[in-house]
Amino acid sequence: MKDQNCIFCKIANGEIPSRTLYEDERYRVILDLGPATKGHALVLPKEHFANIYEIPAEWAAGAMEIGQKMAILMKERLHTDGANLVQNNGETAGQTVHHFHLHIIPRYKNDGQRILWKPGKATDEELDAIVSAMK
Ligand code: AMP
Ligand code: ZN
Repeated sequence: MKDQNCIFCKIANGEIPSRTLYEDERYRVILDLGPATKGHALVLPKEHFANIYEIPAEWAAGAMEIGQKMAILMKERLHTDGANLVQNNGETAGQTVHHFHLHIIPRYKNDGQRILWKPGKATDEELDAIVSAMK
């Protein structure tokens, strides 16, 4: 299913042009217009799923498979030193476009980017409570 009002549906299906690195029946990989680093790309499913809560597992797995291929190719062609594969869900988590997408952010030594979090602290009781809640 496509969403008429979704910009990533239009890009993924070629209704809006994009700089495409890869395309198959189900996915399109495009260059991000606000790149964190050189080669920052997005894996877009051609069907509309808002986020990780809605996308079928098979489609999510397929996106990761393509993410892996692209990261390997970027290593060879763009001489990257590493990659962050990032996927945001919900506004609280920083999602701004509500069509599932997997970021492939190539990393270069001294690229000045920070895609990290501030380490916190937790007591044994707090960690145990989470394990119990998740069972
Ligand atoms: P997120 O914050 O995870 O929802 O990421 C949305 C990403 O989409 C951001 O990195 C934007 O730079 C990127 N973006 C938004 N609109 C476009 C567009 N038309 N073409 C390419 N990238 C886009
Ligand atoms: Zn969409």
